[in-house]
Amino acid sequence: MASDDRFREHNWSNRPIRDLGLKIDGTPLEPVVAEFQREVDALGLKVRPRLYLSTEWGVVTGTIAIAIPFYLAEDPLKDLHARKGLMLEGSGKQDVLRYLRHELGHVINYAYKLYDDGEWVRLFGPITQPYLEDYRPSPFSRRYVRHLPGWYAQKHPDEDWAETFAVWMLPGHDWRDEYSDQPQALAKLEYCERVMGELRTREPLVVEATTEEDVAELGFSLEEYYGRMAQPENEFPHGLDGALRSIFEELAPEPGREGQSASKLVRSLERELMAYVYRWTGHFPERTRALVRHLAQRSDDLALTLDPTREREATLALTTFVAALGMNHVHQGSYLP
Ligand SMILES: [Zn+2]
Repeated sequence: MASDDRFREHNWSNRPIRDLGLKIDGTPLEPVVAEFQREVDALGLKVRPRLYLSTEWGVVTGTIAIAIPFYLAEDPLKDLHARKGLMLEGSGKQDVLRYLRHELGHVINYAYKLYDDGEWVRLFGPITQPYLEDYRPSPFSRRYVRHLPGWYAQKHPDEDWAETFAVWMLPGHDWRDEYSDQPQALAKLEYCERVMGELRTREPLVVEATTEEDVAELGFSLEEYYGRMAQPENEFPHGLDGALRSIFEELAPEPGREGQSASKLVRSLERELMAYVYRWTGHFPERTRALVRHLAQRSDDLALTLDPTREREATLALTTFVAALGMNHVHQGSYLP
């Protein structure tokens, strides 16, 4: 069945995902994966990852198979994902390559059991360290490389390694120069450089390529998949009203002039705020989404308006406001601690 036919049916999002015929070959992912394979070839290793479509990015611990989110395979799925208010992890070719290099870092770690190497443990930490989804990154910490959004290297030693590896692998990137004044991050990259030279002649210790939630096996539909996603808690402190009011009081239209709806502006910023606030603070996109929707609702309830010529100022004020709240939540567990 051609892809167009599949997504023209009115009920495609209610069919089991396994019946949608999703695959990498023949989709927009194919040329990106081909480019990635050329980068893998250039490393000259004896291990090659298996790539498959699943629900999210990842490598099952102790395997060499890379899971790619299925929604990246077809444009109608990307549109649906965005309509559900979720961030695309792989928003273009370069972004997909960033994630693939990161996942390859995990593959190499598991294939050669690098995590058992004393030097690896000394630089990155023990792989047995608890894996906390709610990690609290320190933005711009000089001990880590910068790569995926949300200061992801700070999540866990395994992620620190994967991020370091991805930065090391980026073609044409002068990491020695970029991290020249960050000795701890640089030491990790130098370790990666040395180990990757040594691994070229070594056979992998692990070649297990088990998959998890392969799209070919998913019995639930897209609507069910999105429906069961956890929604963040939706309790917001009353004190946010005062802050919101103060932003728009300063930007209010002159008496007698028509104002523009503040809530409309707040809503229009949702997607960008989700992505950028996560990138720079580590505040999860789905939390930002809930916060922005709350602020839009309160703007309506409070009948806030602004002078239409001052939209740029309002955008900056809202952005810095939401970023500051995000930082508070990451570090203190609450918007108004
Ligand atoms: Zn990872």
